[in-house]
Amino acid sequence: MFETQENCIFCNSYNEDRKKIIWENQEAFSVFNYIPSVPGHSLIVTRQHVTDLNNLTGSVLEGFIHAIPQTFKSIQEIYETNPENIVEYYKDLIINPPEDKARSFAKQMLNHPHLLVKPIAYNWGMNYGYEAGQRAIHLHIHLFPRREEGLGIATAMRKHLAKKE
Ligand SMILES: [Zn+2]
Repeated sequence: MFETQENCIFCNSYNEDRKKIIWENQEAFSVFNYIPSVPGHSLIVTRQHVTDLNNLTGSVLEGFIHAIPQTFKSIQEIYETNPENIVEYYKDLIINPPEDKARSFAKQMLNHPHLLVKPIAYNWGMNYGYEAGQRAIHLHIHLFPRREEGLGIATAMRKHLAKKE
């Protein structure tokens, strides 16, 4: 079920652990997702507990969208200067997983052929509504770093789903 604001992960644990912040401005911050699909899979989160896209306006909207290319740039910089930080992040997840299932995702990432490959492009998107896979009601954007494959987001998603079913 959906969480409430009181136990909202983005208003609480993600916000408290400053060392996980990839990039931030006054309106939004970004962190690595602890349930990643690809190495560097990140979440961009509004600082305010916004849950309805209709309420995403003005400076909050602007700061939220601006965070997308800035977060990607920061991920590229991590790959250029301290790629071991990515490895450390997933290693730490195995030791201190926020949820048990994060541990197996971290192991997958540590064995991923693209773990140390600098991304050159990205897809971004939002799960909006429970049936669309949204679990945290607090609005957040998923950023998926991409390497050599040329699949668009719809094709990539179709292949991803086909593997699961
Ligand atoms: Zn929240």
